[in-house]
Amino acid sequence: MGKPTGFLEKPRGDRGYAPVAERLKHWNEFVQPLPEDEVRDQGSRCMDCGIPFCHNGCPVNNQIPDWNDLVYHGEWRQAYDNLHSTNNFPEFTGRICPAPCEESCTLNLNTFVRPVTIKTIECAIVDKGRENGWLVPQPSEKKTGKRIAVVGSGPAGMACAQQLARVGHDVTLFEKADRIGGLLRYGIPDFKMEKHLIDDRVAQMEAEGVTMKTGVHVGKDVSAKQLAADFDAVVLSGGAENPRNLDVPGRELNGVHFAMEFLPQQNKRNAGDSLPATQDILANGKHVVVVGGGDTGSDCIGTSTRQGAVHVKQLEIVPPSPVDEDKPVIWPDWPRKERISSSQQEVDATFGEKVQYTAETAWLEGDADGNVKKLHGHMVEWGNKGPQKVDGTEFTMDAELVLLAMGFVGPSQDDVLADLGINTVISRDSLGRIPEAPADYKTNLPNVFTAGDMRRGQSLVVWAIREGRQCAHAVDEFLMGESVLPR
Ligand SMILES: Cc1cc2nc3c(=O)[nH]c(=O)nc-3n(C[C@H](O)[C@H](O)[C@H](O)COP(=O)(O)OP(=O)(O)OC[C@H]3O[C@@H](n4cnc5c(N)ncnc54)[C@H](O)[C@@H]3O)c2cc1C
Ligand code: SF4
Repeated sequence: MGKPTGFLEKPRGDRGYAPVAERLKHWNEFVQPLPEDEVRDQGSRCMDCGIPFCHNGCPVNNQIPDWNDLVYHGEWRQAYDNLHSTNNFPEFTGRICPAPCEESCTLNLNTFVRPVTIKTIECAIVDKGRENGWLVPQPSEKKTGKRIAVVGSGPAGMACAQQLARVGHDVTLFEKADRIGGLLRYGIPDFKMEKHLIDDRVAQMEAEGVTMKTGVHVGKDVSAKQLAADFDAVVLSGGAENPRNLDVPGRELNGVHFAMEFLPQQNKRNAGDSLPATQDILANGKHVVVVGGGDTGSDCIGTSTRQGAVHVKQLEIVPPSPVDEDKPVIWPDWPRKERISSSQQEVDATFGEKVQYTAETAWLEGDADGNVKKLHGHMVEWGNKGPQKVDGTEFTMDAELVLLAMGFVGPSQDDVLADLGINTVISRDSLGRIPEAPADYKTNLPNVFTAGDMRRGQSLVVWAIREGRQCAHAVDEFLMGESVLPR
């Protein structure tokens, strides 16, 4: 595996970012790939550590030491095939996965050595394959005659549909939006992941026999019950779209929006769509406050800065995470520690602003026309009773656009589930999710399955891909009695 002494000879090296001033001028990706020889050197840092933990840290169980070794030896084609044996879309994860694998790397046990740059190597493998024309359809040689409807075309639905088509089933992917991709398409900004990557996979999947039906809202345009009757199996992968609301006076003012009302618009503009001016939610010329310090909030501040906001501030109610984790206690698990996103760096460089932690929004003030103008808040202390206001810490800030990015509380497909009778049989947990089932992905209806954020709550792209793949195995086994698809 790699080079046993590689990590002693080579320090960790990783992709950098284009300078802030340059990258704020456009909507494209700004991560700068490493040269090929440097990627191979980084692959050599993967020592033969005996029991690797990285592939368990990776939700799709990528065979990381194997492809690190292949890259080190310049065997790119083999690395490409190996990578695709566990991950349908490594060009997505190679760009936007938070890389739990790197936290699990044995080299990460030692603060001074630092883990292998696994995510960068993954991205380099698939990007080389794309350059070399290796991304080609893999249609099944024989057809089973079984028909499957997959509802929701995010990474879970895409991975599930692709796996099922590759073993010969006739798969139809239903999507209520006008394009395939779910949050990859209309949540995640283009500067984190350009959308031609999804288009290429859609073309591949169509050539493999997947029928794409966009603009079809299951539960409205076609009944879910009808789908369950017409198809041999149905997979529900509609995501977890219900946003957590901010229940404060002034919430109803103009200019207060959920993140997912704001972010998709910019992706549509970038794709060349024109929106009616009355619907435009734009940050240019405005003081923007984003409530929520997580990834969605980060995407809002990065988008607002590029749109030309006058000022951008991000508020977070919880305290900051520690700068470093206690490795001997936490490794190889995912640590809670400070992570500063590229968008937070941009806001710091542009406006001299950092995330304000332990800040709670109290109320929003508007003008005579009902437009939001100011945000009033205070600081909190966390104790057994949750966040408690600290007297004398009240603050007011200009806020002409307030974006709510406080997480998601579950799926929004109550109509679909009720229509199918799933709601009445399976109760939801406190976050509104269908309870974690054993990995059979089944609902109470024999031919209806569920996967991705809809099943597990708002999560990560890499988890959605894993769920889609495992769900495909479950569906195939249900239809055929056995399955060659990986679990
Ligand atoms: C702003 C934002 C940024 C994020 N950034 C990252 C990141 O950087 N890295 C990362 O790993 N994860 C990120 N995530 C999380 C990640 O995007 C999700 O976990 C992942 O997309 C879930 O995949 P999914 O397929 O389960 O659902 P989704 O991607 O939500 O897709 C569900 C699809 O189902 C469709 N649908 C729903 N109901 C119906 C219906 N009744 N009929 C037809 N279609 C329907 C929806 O329109 C949608 O297209 C981010 C999330 C958000 C909101
Ligand atoms: S998918 Fe994510 S966790 Fe898995 S190898 Fe890639 S970056 Fe690491």
